[in-house]
Amino acid sequence: MKTVDLRSDTVTRPSETMRRVMAAAEVGDDVYGEDPTVNRLEAMAAELLGKEKAIFVPSGTMSNLTALLSHCGRGDEYIAGQDAHIYRWEGGGGAIFGGIQPQPLDFEEDGTLDLDRVRNAVKPADHHHAVTRLLCLENTQGGRVLPLSYLGDASRVAKELGLAMHLDGARIFNAAVYLGVPVREVARHFDSVSVCLSKGLGAPVGSVLCGSAELINRAHRWRKVAGGGMRQAGILAAAGIHALQHNVERLADDHENAELLSSGLSHIDELMVSQARTNILFVTPPAGSATALREALAAEGILIGGGDMIRLVTHLDVERADVERTVAAFKRFFAGKGK
Ligand SMILES: *Cc1c(COP(=O)(O)O)cnc(C)c1O
Repeated sequence: MKTVDLRSDTVTRPSETMRRVMAAAEVGDDVYGEDPTVNRLEAMAAELLGKEKAIFVPSGTMSNLTALLSHCGRGDEYIAGQDAHIYRWEGGGGAIFGGIQPQPLDFEEDGTLDLDRVRNAVKPADHHHAVTRLLCLENTQGGRVLPLSYLGDASRVAKELGLAMHLDGARIFNAAVYLGVPVREVARHFDSVSVCLSKGLGAPVGSVLCGSAELINRAHRWRKVAGGGMRQAGILAAAGIHALQHNVERLADDHENAELLSSGLSHIDELMVSQARTNILFVTPPAGSATALREALAAEGILIGGGDMIRLVTHLDVERADVERTVAAFKRFFAGKGK
């Protein structure tokens, strides 16, 4: 029986074709800048995102960290969402390695940061305060796509306030496909953009940080300091290239499957079901039943996220039939409970 893993889009496994491309990759020492496949991936990512340069890094966390270190120095500050990955889910790396202070703000209902609150959060130039340098946004944020008009507004406000802009675009391709625009339209207001290749795009490892040549040159130094200088990394970069060539347009299927899952589950009275946001949705079972639900589904080969509000994520290893199987398994669980 196939396992349907809805916990995250990080669980995708490289396809046979992707593995073949990886095995055949031309490689060199990337710390010397001599890995042709890494260089090709970086050029391709920069071009797609509309930036001068890109750098291949092992993870999204290192990508965000090198971005923070490249934008900010010791005693500087960045503004980010209270639940933003870069602030909440990356171990406080900016503070640990860079002496960089976060200024978290609550996300609005739509995943944006209110720009008046951003304005108020910027510290006056006074030696009592940290120096506010950077505004970090996330897109998609918990699956939510930030409106393009908001990105333009945020960029105007950031300029006015003298802040640089970083986008945690782990799932930026989901946003672009959802909006039906080239990804550079989503990236264009930002000084740096971090993109995960290892989520919905299906590569086993890796992220790219894109930005100006000057910024990415600084990021090169920080990647080395953070221990992210890899040698014959072309084997990994080849998977990233393959992902960018073959797995972008198909993200629309994931969005469709998430909608199908949301509408299928919405018929179960006991369950509170969110609308699908790109490839992510949330379900809340009655208090105290999440663990039993998780176990019953696992017994049928269906894996779902932890907690009481359960996250379900579609990706390239989840097909329409898997969604139907999942809906049926949820229905069986709640039908059984009623008797
Ligand atoms: C997954 C994720 C990251 C970090 O990526 P890793 O490769 O897991 O380190 C950063 N930001 C967001 C929004 C993510 O979803």
